[in-house]
Amino acid sequence: MTWNERQRRMLAAMGVRLWAPAQTTSTVAPAIADAPAATAVVERPVEASVARAPASAPAAEVARAPARPSAPTPAPVAARPTTTIAAAAATLQDTLSDPLLVERAATIATLAWGPLHDAVASCTACGLCESRRQTVFGTGHAQADWMIVGEAPGEQEDLAGEPFVGPAGQLLDQMLRAVGQSRRAASGEGVEDDQAGDPSRRVFIANTLKCRPPRNRNPEPDEMARCEPFLKRQVALVKPKLILLMGRFAVKQLLKSDDAIGKLRGRVHHYEGIPVVVTYHPAYLLRNLPEKAKAWEDLCLAKATADGA
Ligand code: URA
Repeated sequence: MTWNERQRRMLAAMGVRLWAPAQTTSTVAPAIADAPAATAVVERPVEASVARAPASAPAAEVARAPARPSAPTPAPVAARPTTTIAAAAATLQDTLSDPLLVERAATIATLAWGPLHDAVASCTACGLCESRRQTVFGTGHAQADWMIVGEAPGEQEDLAGEPFVGPAGQLLDQMLRAVGQSRRAASGEGVEDDQAGDPSRRVFIANTLKCRPPRNRNPEPDEMARCEPFLKRQVALVKPKLILLMGRFAVKQLLKSDDAIGKLRGRVHHYEGIPVVVTYHPAYLLRNLPEKAKAWEDLCLAKATADGA
């Protein structure tokens, strides 16, 4: 992959050194490869004005949706015996066919931003509501051209109420900046108003789960099934030109695939008619630095797809 002049200017504007020839694959990801190890925590209150609209009757109905009986403290994933897979599949089947949950999903599919936010904030549909500090709705521009889907809030997100604020989030912000996208309005666009600015340069960031799984364990299929209507509605409201799925749980949720990221990346998929690009989760990239070059290629594919949509 080659660098064009615009990408080089963007990277230079970020203060990223361009120390290698413009044509080599190994240098295509300096914007993310060169990023300093993220240490600071960005602590910001939830600011999306989409969260401020008043509650409505449908949101209240959703809040009354059946709660899953509280789960016992889950065992670490690695220690979980394989026999629970069958049990999880059976539970998932129950969830998918539960008429009350089907009705709840149909109600969520009608909600506007404010009631949707309220429905998420008051959700008790799975056991995660018992351990969360707060829900993490999502953030960014309500009409953004790009939508980013991650996995689930971690500890810092659970504290801040905003997705991707820890080290993985800092890497994500750097990656997005390198292709000219941002979760925040640019200075001069009215930074105090999250919905200000050019939506074509903005992203809306959400997760498959709106609540933190205890000790950051993997999302359970049943939790994902119960949370999915929220993400589906967010996609329908944002109507992005491009969805970037980061990591295998986002892929599982929206593409219904268990294939490895390495198998799915590099081509355009679709969700509800919207182009989808698959890439590695930023937390994985922090642990596997050589994969950043591939992530940069994925971002370039995402950009070309969004710009051509
Ligand atoms: N990882 C995610 O997938 N989402 C977050 O919000 C934070 C870390």
